[in-house]
Amino acid sequence: NTPLHELDPDVAAAVDAELHRQQSTLEMIASENFAPVAVMEAQGSVLTNKYAEGYPGRRYYGGCEHVDVAEQIAIDRVKDLFGAEYANVQPHSGASANQAALFAIAQPGDTILGLDLAHGGHLTHGMRLNFSGKQFNVVAYHVDDAGLVDMAEVERLAKEHRPKVIIAGWSAYPRQLDFAEFRRIADEVEAYLWVDMAHFAGLVAAGLHPNPVEYADVVTSTTHKTLGGPRGGIILAKKEFAKKLNSSVFPGFQGGPLEHVIAAKAVSFKVAASEEFKERQRRTVEGARILAERLVRSDVVEHGVSVLSGGTDVHLVLVDLRNSELDGQQAEDRLHEVGITVNRNAIPNDPRPPMVTSGLRIGTPALATRGFQAEDFTEVADVIAETLKPDFDAEALKARVSALAAKHPLYPGLSAS
Ligand code: PLP
Repeated sequence: NTPLHELDPDVAAAVDAELHRQQSTLEMIASENFAPVAVMEAQGSVLTNKYAEGYPGRRYYGGCEHVDVAEQIAIDRVKDLFGAEYANVQPHSGASANQAALFAIAQPGDTILGLDLAHGGHLTHGMRLNFSGKQFNVVAYHVDDAGLVDMAEVERLAKEHRPKVIIAGWSAYPRQLDFAEFRRIADEVEAYLWVDMAHFAGLVAAGLHPNPVEYADVVTSTTHKTLGGPRGGIILAKKEFAKKLNSSVFPGFQGGPLEHVIAAKAVSFKVAASEEFKERQRRTVEGARILAERLVRSDVVEHGVSVLSGGTDVHLVLVDLRNSELDGQQAEDRLHEVGITVNRNAIPNDPRPPMVTSGLRIGTPALATRGFQAEDFTEVADVIAETLKPDFDAEALKARVSALAAKHPLYPGLSAS
């Protein structure tokens, strides 16, 4: 029972340094969040020791009576949260959920239609080097000149290629998708509709975004982005897909489920059903709106900065630097220097190479979890705007970031190990 800092000071030092980084800087990577202490407690529990291949009540190992309880709670809660007929809480990650889901409803060689990676789609929606791109015949749709998903193109490509699966979902897109229209097109060409709500699941849970479960055959998600839980994946679906999805996850792609993570997912679903969570998601979206508004002020725009689609309906903003001297890499580095963490992101028709890019993806979920209010998001937005100007004063901006971090302490009860 030797504590970590005694048994392994090297790893303990990395964990402590990461805690300090999270506490002292502003996390604005759109896919990140801060899990509640109770979630981390479940994830760090003795459930990590248990093998439980199979599903609650139908396991291939003895001694599963307690993990059965935790997993069943997770299933019931997430079904309630999203109004789903079926849930699988075992996928180890979003990519694992997507792999299991796709292979449950399509065969290798089938055609799939998803949003182009360079236009905001995810690797698992058909990228060349991913399983989806290697094993399926991929057709991609795009965003139009206004930065919105081109539904006319989706319909045209669907009719032309008659895909087995149409994928609606994104990793970098600042607007809501028209699920009803996706459903109509899918029905017209007899395709399955799969929605990957990994990014916006928290907004759906809070009632701030249309619920794809009402439209799609299968819905996948991560649990660690806006949803604010442990790292992991889930699959929701209509009952008729239950058998295929269960067997695709296990034994199709996974062995023993991570019951400690599943217990942590259960805790996060309880949190996600709370009023506090709804209020937090409201601040998340409000914060992103404030950010978009402050970044299109004339004193910022004159330096070639703009916001894709002109704003946002969700938890992130895509900054367009095509007309700026600053490329995505330089902008990311500069923000890092003042203590704000974001990621550079290729934008549609990006003239710069993928490792450099002409865009930034900036998200508000983690700061909203930290307690940021509208006035704090206004200050963050102004710090970002100033940092992107040529005459930025790194020291002054760093001090403003530190003041914001100090105003909203993160994990105040946690100390270095
Ligand atoms: N789906 C979407 C839309 C995502 O944005 C991501 C992660 O970035 C994933 C799936 C994959 O999740 P994970 O990183 O847990 O595999």
